[in-house]
Amino acid sequence: MIVILLGSPGSGKGTQSKRLADKYGFVHLATGDIFRAEIAQKTAIGLKAQDYLKNGRLVPDSVVIEMVAGKIETGGKYLLDGFPRTIEQARGLAEMLGRVGASVDLTVFLTLPREEAIRRAASRRICANCGEVYNVLSRPPKADGVCDKCSGKVVQRDDDSEATAAKRLMVFEDLTHPLVAYYKSETTFHEVDASQAPEKVEAALSAVIESVKAGR
Ligand code: AMP
Repeated sequence: MIVILLGSPGSGKGTQSKRLADKYGFVHLATGDIFRAEIAQKTAIGLKAQDYLKNGRLVPDSVVIEMVAGKIETGGKYLLDGFPRTIEQARGLAEMLGRVGASVDLTVFLTLPREEAIRRAASRRICANCGEVYNVLSRPPKADGVCDKCSGKVVQRDDDSEATAAKRLMVFEDLTHPLVAYYKSETTFHEVDASQAPEKVEAALSAVIESVKAGR
């Protein structure tokens, strides 16, 4: 089963993807997390990607498509978080899934007003070690600056600074939002209101996943 979670920065894609991956046994493929790990390890992909992440721009499609293609295996159950982000990547995804006899089973667009996306990015924090997501207003770590899960350091992502977050939102509106139109005409497309409490968003996402599972 292949599920895509689409949404603006701050829509909770990462948080929800982790919860759903645990609940349903998906492999959670988060391209942003992969790039951050590659950058930390100073790999060839990390070196190619680092300036793009720092500036809130998209890594070139060819680099992303090649990286994801190397991780998709026949019969796998994947939750795609942050990929595809352009029409070109959506085409690349269809092609790589076709090669392993699969197709997208579900695309969910997490909707969120622009102002809320900016507010959330400013208050978001992540664990520099395990990537757990926190929010200084709604979900701070129990001990200030220390991850509840792994005791790693909880920090603000470089690209969550006000200027870069605004840039990422513009990039989303220009390049990723058109994917909604690309997927909307398909029966596998659903929308979920991401401005609700995380538990409600999770319940809505679970209901859609259950309905797809029941129909397979
Ligand atoms: P995210 O953690 O999903 O917010 O991604 C953080 C950053 O990683 C983005 O602002 C991009 O620079 C880069 N990135 C992640 N996924 C992609 C993708 N599918 N295509 C291009 N760049 C990406």
